[in-house]
Amino acid sequence: MRNFAYHRPGDVSGAADTLAKSNEPRLLAGGMSLLPSMKLRLVSPSDLVDLGDIAALKGIRVDGKEIYVGAMTCHADVAVHADVKRVLPALAELAEGIGDPAVRYRGTLGGSIANADPAACYPAAVVGLDATVETTKRKIGGDNFFTGLFTTALEPGEIVTGVRFKVPDKAKYMKLRHPASGFAVVGVMVAKFRGNVRVAVTGAGPSVFRVPAMEKALASNFSPKAIDGITIPHADLMTDIHFSGEYRANAAAVMARRAVAAIT
Ligand SMILES: Cc1cc2nc3c(=O)[nH]c(=O)nc-3n(C[C@H](O)[C@H](O)[C@H](O)COP(=O)(O)OP(=O)(O)OC[C@H]3O[C@@H](n4cnc5c(N)ncnc54)[C@H](O)[C@@H]3O)c2cc1C
Repeated sequence: MRNFAYHRPGDVSGAADTLAKSNEPRLLAGGMSLLPSMKLRLVSPSDLVDLGDIAALKGIRVDGKEIYVGAMTCHADVAVHADVKRVLPALAELAEGIGDPAVRYRGTLGGSIANADPAACYPAAVVGLDATVETTKRKIGGDNFFTGLFTTALEPGEIVTGVRFKVPDKAKYMKLRHPASGFAVVGVMVAKFRGNVRVAVTGAGPSVFRVPAMEKALASNFSPKAIDGITIPHADLMTDIHFSGEYRANAAAVMARRAVAAIT
């Protein structure tokens, strides 16, 4: 790890100012992804701007129609939040299934989505639940936030402040968990809203994606049978030492059917 200057501002505007004044800064949330990358010298920031003291970035607010989660809220807090469990259990279950206890207590929503790991779970919630990502500069629709492998619509100096998730009539997140890391080999969020259905797949491709053929079929008949013969094209999916793209495509279709079955 190379030397860097460490900053711990007390508010969001202080963090934004420090970012603007620094050469090659990085925001630090829980450090779950950033610190290993620094140790491997994949990134060598000149300045680390730690968001840990900014109370305004932490917390969860629930009303009947939306759930707002602050960027610095850790996964464990989402997993046990009584109102999240009551209003949108799929989101609490997703958070509960992330990594291991250490990752859940250090890892944050903002860090997870800004990092845009292709195997992360939260991207499926952001897209599947038609969420809005709020930043220091604007509001970004979930469909437009993730732009590719480890890339997002965030601009330099832009800080995620929180995410507003829509509350559907029902939803389920189903994940095929990597046995070593807990990351998603594939993860599928199915959400039924009044008038439409969203199916968002993470883990399979370079970035989260929707499955329009399944969404259309489920909108007219919300049952596992409705998507029985629908396959997911695998040509652009990830093949690595663990699984082929073809396997991931099939697993995503299976997870989608299981998710629908669980809430039918
Ligand atoms: C062993 C292990 C298992 C894991 N398993 C899973 C899993 O099953 N599912 C899953 O979804 N995730 C998993 N993760 C990822 C984990 O959930 C973390 O959320 C993720 O690593 C990001 O960590 P962090 O929140 O500490 O952010 P950091 O590592 O501190 O930051 C990550 C990146 O986001 C940027 N950033 C941080 N906060 C903001 C912000 N507010 N605005 C803009 N940019 C920001 C940082 O500059 C950095 O580039 C796992 C991680 C590990 C180490």
